[in-house]
Amino acid sequence: MPNLFSNTKDAFLLKSDSELFRAKFLFNIINNRFLVKFGAYVANLTLKLKLPLKPIIKATVYNHFCGGEDEKQCELTIQNMFKHNVYSVLDFSTEDFNNESDFDLCYEKKISLIEYSKSKKEIPFTVFKPTCIGRASIFEKISLNNKLNENEKESWSRIKNRFHGICKKAKDNNVKILIDAEEFFVQKAIDKLALEMMIKYNKKQVIVYNTVQMYRHDRMRYLKKLILDYPEVLFGFKLVRGAYMEKERNRALKYNYKSPICKDKLTTDKNFDTAIDFVFKNLNQINFICGSHNELSTLKILDLMSYYNIDVNDDRVWFGQLFGMSDNISFNLAKSSYNVFKIIPFGPVKNLIPYLIRRAQENSSVKGQSGRELNLIQKEIKRRKLKKS
Ligand SMILES: Cc1cc2nc3c(=O)[nH]c(=O)nc-3n(C[C@H](O)[C@H](O)[C@H](O)COP(=O)(O)OP(=O)(O)OC[C@H]3O[C@@H](n4cnc5c(N)ncnc54)[C@H](O)[C@@H]3O)c2cc1C
Repeated sequence: MPNLFSNTKDAFLLKSDSELFRAKFLFNIINNRFLVKFGAYVANLTLKLKLPLKPIIKATVYNHFCGGEDEKQCELTIQNMFKHNVYSVLDFSTEDFNNESDFDLCYEKKISLIEYSKSKKEIPFTVFKPTCIGRASIFEKISLNNKLNENEKESWSRIKNRFHGICKKAKDNNVKILIDAEEFFVQKAIDKLALEMMIKYNKKQVIVYNTVQMYRHDRMRYLKKLILDYPEVLFGFKLVRGAYMEKERNRALKYNYKSPICKDKLTTDKNFDTAIDFVFKNLNQINFICGSHNELSTLKILDLMSYYNIDVNDDRVWFGQLFGMSDNISFNLAKSSYNVFKIIPFGPVKNLIPYLIRRAQENSSVKGQSGRELNLIQKEIKRRKLKKS
């Protein structure tokens, strides 16, 4: 049934004909699990053997899903989207960081991105992934309540300082900050720090947002407990379904514990819906972002906004999609004046290869998602052809 998101003319207004054909080519490949597996293998080999495939990767999948190699290269995209009321969130790619000097480098980059964003109304949020500023094994030990040795205590204290440094910089410059959610084995420690940050920096307005993965069957309990235990605190939540399902299930099997993930997609969807209802009932205390490419979830929020008489551009409610995906949601929401941003990953091509492999795998494994993108792209190509003839 046609809805607000069926309008492909507005969805793809920033895409030239050749960019649309490139998108069609890419989603055709992504639709094919075998080709995605093969592509991932070649991309990994490119990384390992330093094969000279960068120009091909750059001209295809990189240019579709990423903004550029540095902030400057992203600027045209940011400006063009903003002309159509779509905001940007720059996400510097840091997939491979795993020692203290890498973490410091990542920290400095996040600080400089807040500095860069502070005077730009087109960039209302910045974002960071906790294990890019600290060792996953330390997050894991804290999550398990394990004792730390002296070295680990020092690492944990550095992680805390980096969290505080980023959130304070965000607060001082009035740029909101999103803390990404990660795998179950590190998430308890992330939640602990995120709560500390929200208590400290969300005094008069919400600056810090934690991410809540609703594919986890325990997350409604987590949300309810926070609101019950901290009635004075202003919370920011980015609600997502969750990106690590396969890994979580494999890890639970390997270490013989109950998987933290809902038993099926329907249960995840219901959990996501329940969280949305809960958030709307507590909007006096919660600002939230719906980080999703799901049309039904988005439409549900539009209905609730209308039911609760909430202005379309009320700052307490935002929508977020990833660059290169679901432009039909982003641009059509923006046209109706809702608050919407795209997360734009950027950085050197080699740093972004793991991200690109994940996007391709996610699209090919999520039933219907790449098919939906492809249908919309084909529909727009056809519409443009008819218009010309
Ligand atoms: C702006 C933005 C920010 C994001 N930030 C994060 C983040 O910080 N951390 C993070 O983990 N992810 C993050 N994601 C990714 C997100 O969690 C989802 O993986 C992705 O958006 C797909 O879910 P969906 O709601 O868009 O679409 P849908 O296609 O409706 O849902 C797909 C999702 O449903 C769930 N699912 C699928 N099959 C099953 C099954 N059999 N059983 C149980 N659940 C199932 C999985 O979570 C899967 O990703 C972000 C996404 C966006 C758009």
